[in-house]
Amino acid sequence: MYNKSKELYDEAVKVMPGGVNSPARAFKSVGDHPLFIDHAKGARLYDVDGNEFIDYSLSFGPLILGHADDKVVKSVQDAAVKGTSFGAPTELETTMAELVMERVPSIEMVRMVSSGTEATLAALRLARGYTGRSKILKFEGCYHGHSDSLLIKAGSGVATLGLPDSPGVPEGTAKNTITVPYNDEASLTEAFDKFGDDIAAVIMEPVAGNMGVVPPVEGYLQFVRDLTEKNNTLLIFDEVMTGFRVGYNSAQGYFGITPDLTCLGKVIGGGLPVGAYGGKKEIMERIAPSGDIYQAGTLSGNPLAMSTGLATLSQLTEESYDYFGKLADQLEAGLKKVFAKHDQPITVNRAGSMIGFFLTEGPVTDFDSANTSDLELFRAMYQALLDEGVYLPPSQFEGMFLSTKHTEADIETTINAFDKALSKVTGK
Ligand code: PMP
Repeated sequence: MYNKSKELYDEAVKVMPGGVNSPARAFKSVGDHPLFIDHAKGARLYDVDGNEFIDYSLSFGPLILGHADDKVVKSVQDAAVKGTSFGAPTELETTMAELVMERVPSIEMVRMVSSGTEATLAALRLARGYTGRSKILKFEGCYHGHSDSLLIKAGSGVATLGLPDSPGVPEGTAKNTITVPYNDEASLTEAFDKFGDDIAAVIMEPVAGNMGVVPPVEGYLQFVRDLTEKNNTLLIFDEVMTGFRVGYNSAQGYFGITPDLTCLGKVIGGGLPVGAYGGKKEIMERIAPSGDIYQAGTLSGNPLAMSTGLATLSQLTEESYDYFGKLADQLEAGLKKVFAKHDQPITVNRAGSMIGFFLTEGPVTDFDSANTSDLELFRAMYQALLDEGVYLPPSQFEGMFLSTKHTEADIETTINAFDKALSKVTGK
């Protein structure tokens, strides 16, 4: 059933570490080898063996309009004909900046980059330069890309691979990164009591999406906002995943909390490599060339990526998020019913078009509780779901993503697939 993928994988491992260009897609925790993809359209993914899947990974989030949306494809075709990169400004970049600022009002000025990793590392440099402080604080299980200071107790592929601290991250760098559990007010207070004067920034996913989906508990974001303000520490919302996924105005709009800086990526590129960071004008103006804090990029603001980003954001409306809510309600109810039928525990966490499930009684509110999920069962379920035509992000520590192209019928098919997969793996 997956023979051609296996053959391609055997070739790939000879020339690329682990056969892939990014660890999260390697299927390390869910199978023997990844599936190689031939093409995709809407909510459907097709592998090289001709298998068809309903896709809930959507390239780990960016494809909120589904794969190969007609307008997105046309936008990149039209842009490519005019030239793929100029190393000089285009009007597209200003249009994109204006659209992002309109939707995310805390962003008064923005800088485009080419990945989420670049966005977070640049935001940290800016926070350190602006405050003159050296420490940053992050949360256990939150992933902010693979830059040195952020690869400490990160989730995502790092959690899957069991590499909480990667070799190659200098001790001196790690020393400046404080980590505390997510959703835990006491630990955060303690960290500020100890290091408050030296914490340049708190960086957080306003809904964690890299230890599975873990939303903030009631009042937590406000608590973090108040504490950072009191200590003159910048609050950075890493909305690379949640941006334009959790709500029309991103997670900060959804929860009504205003950070000082915001990092974006994924959806704003509509499937092309993009990232962005922005925030208060007074802070952003410190970035070169208007200011003294350096950050640059040959392909930053790339016309193809700006075009797909604009084509994506301009098709999202408030109603899109009502639709995601409806689909997520249906999926949550269906999953709970099926797991109850099989007498298996499940915890479902959601925010907008992000939905995650854990194979545990729960509640799941942080990295430790996420780790109570039954990973062996997840692995078996994952394979059984593939056989039933459902493609999830290949790790327990990633959430499922919905697109405007998923239908109620797709959700129904998916719930039935879970039912069959559970019958197969529990033998009942
Ligand atoms: N921040 C968050 C919250 C992310 O989810 C990710 C990627 N999953 C990143 C940063 C890094 O983005 P990229 O993979 O584009 O470098």
